[in-house]
Amino acid sequence: MFCYIHIPFCESRCKYCRFSTFVEKDEMKKQFYVDYLVKSIEEENIKSFVIPGNAGIYKDITNPFLNIDANASNYLKDSCIPRNDKDILNSIYFWWWTPTSLSNKQLSKIIASLKNKYSFEKDIEITLETTPNNISIENLVEWEKIWVNRLSLWIQTLNDLALSEIWRIDKKGLIEKLEILKQSKIVNISLDFIIWLPYVAKGEVLDDLRNILENYKYVKHISLYMLEDYYDYPKTWEQFSIKEEDFLDEYVNCKSYLQEKWFYRYEVSNFAKKWYECKHNKAYWEHKDLVPYWLWAHWFLDNKRYAYSNNFNEYYKWKYDYLEKLNEKDLFLEKVMFWLRTNWLEENIYKKLNTKKINEFVENKMLEFNDEKLILKDKWTVLLDYIIKEIIC
Ligand code: SF4
Repeated sequence: MFCYIHIPFCESRCKYCRFSTFVEKDEMKKQFYVDYLVKSIEEENIKSFVIPGNAGIYKDITNPFLNIDANASNYLKDSCIPRNDKDILNSIYFWWWTPTSLSNKQLSKIIASLKNKYSFEKDIEITLETTPNNISIENLVEWEKIWVNRLSLWIQTLNDLALSEIWRIDKKGLIEKLEILKQSKIVNISLDFIIWLPYVAKGEVLDDLRNILENYKYVKHISLYMLEDYYDYPKTWEQFSIKEEDFLDEYVNCKSYLQEKWFYRYEVSNFAKKWYECKHNKAYWEHKDLVPYWLWAHWFLDNKRYAYSNNFNEYYKWKYDYLEKLNEKDLFLEKVMFWLRTNWLEENIYKKLNTKKINEFVENKMLEFNDEKLILKDKWTVLLDYIIKEIIC
């Protein structure tokens, strides 16, 4: 099984962020949330929650537990992921939004509770998403002690103007942090980059990749995202970004370079050296069992998709939203989407789709047949969602 844990706090808010993250300065509140999370790992249905420490210190903050519905613990009984002491965890992913905004003691407490609840596979992958700001020798040592063996951190760009525009530390600060990582005993390290940030010139993302991969051989995984409408960025940025027609070239050039360096693409935005693909990502794309914890965590069970509430008070009552039920056709189409994002379509699959449309895309050199497999051409990766929509109807 694969477990992911949402930590809904960030140290500060990035300018393009579209997520409901909390810049929480009150350490007591964070502790409060961690204690509840640990309790939810230990007990499948929380029946009571004793506020830790001196209850008096919480008197000035809203205490959602005081309002817990007596039946709250039944909310998930019928449909929660069966969690069983014998389950083996293959990976744990500390994710959304900045897990390292918690203290190492808090992270350690969460991992220890998972260790008590489940068996860990021998080569379990434990990923911690972090910001460069949190990289220090002390933290690296502490993270290694609590079994973290994969780090994922953003770089996004080495362009100072862009970094300042998105409210991140500058290039000098980033390089200092990358130097510290040379001393890390955690060797599986992933870096994020974004194409289409303002002030970043054509070819600059590729230069950044070159600069980093030449100097920091420890990098094993690269995530290369595009700044799309999906993000909540100021639209004025577009006048300072590369032209739309250069956007695809940028991606294709970066991909070619990454391949030269033995980072192969295992999903549209994800590149890894052999054996270093992210287990959690793959599990998600392959519809494997995921055990989610924390606010707004999603899970998939018996072809149904659920998510815990993204409201703290409701989450504390274990309220979840039933999002959708996929019928056989939906499930097949979703698999088609994941297959094309991650690999190719086999003949027995694409023959069931809209072959007229497929042939049109092949004629237009957006898709190609190769050894009876249908493959997306690199240059059209950013149109993948559109292509999928067309070929499945
Ligand atoms: S680190 Fe991520 S989640 Fe947090 S504010 Fe920045 S973009 Fe949003």
